[in-house]
Amino acid sequence: MRIKGIAVSPGQALGKVVFIKTEEIAGTKQLIADDEISDQVQHFRNSVTSLSNQYNCSAEELFSSGKKEQAEMMELHHEILNDYTFIDRICSLIESGYGAVYSVRLALDEQLNNFAKIENPYFRERSNDLKDVATRLMYKLSELDYSEVKEIDYAAVLFAEELMPSVAINLDRRYIKGVVTNSGSSTSHSAILVRSMGIPTVMGCEDFSAVQEGELVFIDGQAGFVEYGLSERQIKDFTTEMIKQNKLDQLELSWAEQPTITRDNNKISLFANLINPKLLPAVIKAGAEGIGLFRTEMLYLDRVSPPGEDEQYLIYKTILEKMPNKPVIIRTVDIGGDKPCACLPVAKELNPFMGVRGIRLSLLEEELFKTQLRAILRASIHGNAMLMFPMVSTVEEILQAQELLARVKAELHSRRINFNQKIPVGIMIEVPSAAIMADILLEYIDFVSIGSNDLIQYTYAADRHNPQTSSLCSHFNPAALRLIKSTIDYCAQAGKLCGLCGEMAAEPEAIPLLLGLGLQEFSVNAALLLRTRKIISQIDYSQAAAMAEIAVKLPSAEQVAKLLQEFSSTVRQ
Ligand code: PEP
Ligand code: MG
Repeated sequence: MRIKGIAVSPGQALGKVVFIKTEEIAGTKQLIADDEISDQVQHFRNSVTSLSNQYNCSAEELFSSGKKEQAEMMELHHEILNDYTFIDRICSLIESGYGAVYSVRLALDEQLNNFAKIENPYFRERSNDLKDVATRLMYKLSELDYSEVKEIDYAAVLFAEELMPSVAINLDRRYIKGVVTNSGSSTSHSAILVRSMGIPTVMGCEDFSAVQEGELVFIDGQAGFVEYGLSERQIKDFTTEMIKQNKLDQLELSWAEQPTITRDNNKISLFANLINPKLLPAVIKAGAEGIGLFRTEMLYLDRVSPPGEDEQYLIYKTILEKMPNKPVIIRTVDIGGDKPCACLPVAKELNPFMGVRGIRLSLLEEELFKTQLRAILRASIHGNAMLMFPMVSTVEEILQAQELLARVKAELHSRRINFNQKIPVGIMIEVPSAAIMADILLEYIDFVSIGSNDLIQYTYAADRHNPQTSSLCSHFNPAALRLIKSTIDYCAQAGKLCGLCGEMAAEPEAIPLLLGLGLQEFSVNAALLLRTRKIISQIDYSQAAAMAEIAVKLPSAEQVAKLLQEFSSTVRQ
């Protein structure tokens, strides 16, 4: 029997079911007498201090054992706990006659209600952190132990209504083979943590009440399902599948050392998309020939203040040094849309995807933009850095961004700080207006990278996150293909580099099409580098070009998909 959910962290595993239950406490009203108030306030303050110390110690331990992400989470929880508005609210509830534990519950509920009214998914997900901190505090006040997964020393798959970040932090990868939850999304803190630990995870599952504690289940974090009530036969089949997958992973590794060339010897650049510098070892291991997209906004999410110039400089420098002589395209922040950022609240918008996003925000927040430009320029002497602006839709935006860049360069020059004066400057082509005007825009820049994820959704006015419209976001929709083709052609005419860094670059059936259209640089997620290289090596460029010529003239995505399937099946023969 199968339960489906959101695929949050890839990998397959078999393990015994363990339910994590955090006991519900302080649900009932608790009133205190006037002469108890000062004791309760004191008890509350002592508990805050003690929990704060615990968070600090954990953060220090985690930092010193190299677990930076987990340590930062502890710091964030320390900050949430010490938020004076939260503390003041709890004290005033105690002073009005409620017990300390019940007051925390009331203050938490008020805050959660406020979060629920905010449409922004970032804040909805932060409610998970607040709940975690407040629950710990209630446990401390009640002198109870907070449920953690300590004693498991066998292969287990955890099931929970919700995975608290502080529980996720302490999962032991050796024994915890998978995580399954009712709530959660792939951008929640817990999701980020399990992914960084490589634990297969499926979130947002419907009812799993039929699953039995202790039974063996199979989890597939890539396909997003859990199979339970397994028969002997299924256990055997899943074990064989896991062994096969393991072998495939090993086999793919042999592609790491190979050059990226088509079957008829056309050299292609295969770059990696990077969201977290920690993933660099995987990128290097897979033999990436450069970084085609470093999504720097990821440095700004999940924190209360934006990263400073030195912090950013060190991160960019490290990446450049670890990719010697290889291009590293650093994209300035693309905040907004589905990537709101707490440290830089964007005013509520009716259509955030069409609002203040990417370069538009950077041009409004000059100081933030200049800080980032300074950091990138300073780092540029440590390697082959390239600078790229996201969400560009007009020439004016390029001119304004370049004017700010010139000001920052002049400032660095006057302070005698070294940087690469000739750092290449490019833009993402991800808005239809930029694709249509690409011949003109190219006069002002050195290179482009096509952001197919956004370009397709904006071309079809169809939100790719909305299940009812996502079919319009097919990589094979002909209108978007025409824009991709004309962009590649304009770049070829202008002699400028054209890459593509949307998910399309790694889609097996789209690869021959993109090659046929003349794409020179593919930038894909680290996990898909080797598969992409292997597919490119099987394709004959001239055959792909003939096929692509037909594809762009077809009337529908279905017909393009059919043509590509036929092409791929002949290649595989
Ligand atoms: C894209 O739009 O294709 C892209 C790579 O940018 P992002 O996914 O970060 O919006
Ligand atoms: Mg984009």
